[in-house]
Amino acid sequence: MKDLVLARPGEYKLAAAQAKQLGDLGMAKWYYLMAKKLDTMVEEFDRGYLVDISTLPPPAEYACPAWERSTHAKKLDPALNESCRCISGCLKPTNTKNLYILAGIAPPDIRRAVASRTEWRRQKTDERHPLHGHVPAPSRLKSQKSFLTSTAPLETTPSEARLAMWKEKLNNHPHSPTMHIPAAESLPPGDNNWAKWKCLNRLRSGVGRSREALSRWGYLSGPTTCDCGTEPQTMEHLLRCPLLGGPCTAKDLALYNTKAQQCTNHWLDII
Ligand SMILES: [Zn+2]
Repeated sequence: MKDLVLARPGEYKLAAAQAKQLGDLGMAKWYYLMAKKLDTMVEEFDRGYLVDISTLPPPAEYACPAWERSTHAKKLDPALNESCRCISGCLKPTNTKNLYILAGIAPPDIRRAVASRTEWRRQKTDERHPLHGHVPAPSRLKSQKSFLTSTAPLETTPSEARLAMWKEKLNNHPHSPTMHIPAAESLPPGDNNWAKWKCLNRLRSGVGRSREALSRWGYLSGPTTCDCGTEPQTMEHLLRCPLLGGPCTAKDLALYNTKAQQCTNHWLDII
């Protein structure tokens, strides 16, 4: 509980810094004010006062049925992607489609859409809902369109709906090369050791600190030859480097079998 209260101001300050970097001063200010508010809360906590957890600033989907169709909704996504990189240990250039699979979290647009449909169902079926039986007034602006007119109520559980939409999204935009890991709201097989988990996910996503990548990113000026003598040391090469006990495939990495463990251990703390 204390960790939760203590961590949130930092998260908002980070988001503020990122928003400022992106030139969005309005969002930066908002995040900063939130962080300030939280600092006060942390002080109260330290003095031994009771802190009401429900007054903590909302997670990224709070009240999203009201704002998810706004063109500004996507501005939250970089902060969410950063969280997924923290979970998976992946680097910034990692494809976000792969990132969400490795973090076991459905993409933000899908999570927001399902939250709206859940609210729609509550509004339709729960007589205690303040909007029960309400007919929304017509509106011309897309961003102001009520979720009651632009979404369909949920027929399944939110979790099933998110998974179905996620799979459909992946089928419509196949990402290559595939990681052979199905979309699921749980972490793929892996290791409890952070260094191994991080290395495994970088090998899976094909984005890591191989010598070829370091050279491309401007961190390495010398030759990109692997210790085995192969030029250049690409991410693909790491899976079939002769220095490994044997080659490892994307399927092996997906299952985290003995071959994948051997490969991960070899490149540990390197990529
Ligand atoms: Zn090699």
